[in-house]
Amino acid sequence: MVKLNENYFNLKESYLFSTTARKIREYAAANPLKPVIRMGIGDVTIPLSKTVADAIARAGAGMATKEGFHGYGDEQGEGFLQEAIRAYYLSNAGVELNKNEIFVSDGAKSDVANFTDLFSNDNVIVIPDPVYPVYLDSNMMLGRKITLIDGNEENGFLPLPYEGLEGDIVYLCSPNNPTGAVYDREGLEKWVDFANEKGMLILFDAAYEAFVSDSSLPHSIFEIEGAKKCAVEFCSLSKTAGFTGTRCGYTVVPEDIVIGGRSLNKMWLRRQTTKYNGTSYVIQKGAEAVFSPEGMAECRKNIAYYKENARIMADTLTKMGIWFTGGVNSPYIWLKCGMDSWEFFDMLLNEIQVAGTPGSGFGKCGEGYFRLTAFNTHENTREAMSRFEKLLAGK
Ligand code: PLP
Repeated sequence: MVKLNENYFNLKESYLFSTTARKIREYAAANPLKPVIRMGIGDVTIPLSKTVADAIARAGAGMATKEGFHGYGDEQGEGFLQEAIRAYYLSNAGVELNKNEIFVSDGAKSDVANFTDLFSNDNVIVIPDPVYPVYLDSNMMLGRKITLIDGNEENGFLPLPYEGLEGDIVYLCSPNNPTGAVYDREGLEKWVDFANEKGMLILFDAAYEAFVSDSSLPHSIFEIEGAKKCAVEFCSLSKTAGFTGTRCGYTVVPEDIVIGGRSLNKMWLRRQTTKYNGTSYVIQKGAEAVFSPEGMAECRKNIAYYKENARIMADTLTKMGIWFTGGVNSPYIWLKCGMDSWEFFDMLLNEIQVAGTPGSGFGKCGEGYFRLTAFNTHENTREAMSRFEKLLAGK
């Protein structure tokens, strides 16, 4: 008889964003005259940049020609895109990488979750709370032992290593989803030193690095000395360039990471060549265009648009005296709602037709907090904040 992976039974019944989406759908169906302003799921709203879309169109049209056709590509990514990413790391973060350290993928979610393949189930996994739910769920699916470390107001939702913290692999996400908080250099140095001292591996999720505009804050963990011995970095074009539906990301696995005499880079290559057949050539041409001067300028313009929304939200909250993190170097605002976060979700949806994401969906430390995203228009953001202000002023 078929035996199922019973670890799945320990997962929460549905993925957070399916639950919020269902509630919004049901509300919208019942109230067709009351359109909902969606500031919940972290999906971009601005179309692809023209430079990127043109590159995709050219590559797509080329596929119908003898010269432009491409079949299976290199599982690790096309050389032209690896080279563009290598150059980006150098200019954006001052980090030198070898081409072989860069693995192109269809996005950070699959890489973050698939990377768990490389580790034995005996590992203790350290996960900040609250955080992007994929780290926890993908390890729970394997029945791994998990230690949560608390993010809270005292540590600005940026937990640091502490005496007595035991674990083999730690996930860090900066700029953080959901809190928008960003580790400074000193914070990352503490993690890198701790990891190197204890023989821990850091899985660093930099999906929102392009939102960092404060020049003192790191874009990549590899800006920190010693990180290439203990950290793997996941990155994505989803938020950098609006690729949530286009799908492309990349993972950097330094060649210096050797565990028990084995190269992690070689293991990931082995895993990818077996289980992944490469990112679409057409999409990789679009991704290459993201890193061109024109593509980069257009993407930065879109990011600045979202960041203006974050500023609008931050200004309202500051004016109202509501505690929050994020919004400056991140598309997320994490506010203290001071009540059960699902109740707050229902209240905003039902009373002012604004949809956000309940903090408790990101972990127990998220209870009493709420996430709003900047992925909307200026008009909707202003309207949502004006409704928000009126609602809460009346409470
Ligand atoms: N990592 C974080 C922290 C995210 O918030 C997200 C998406 O919201 C992802 C990874 C997924 O990125 P991708 O669209 O590249 O799979």
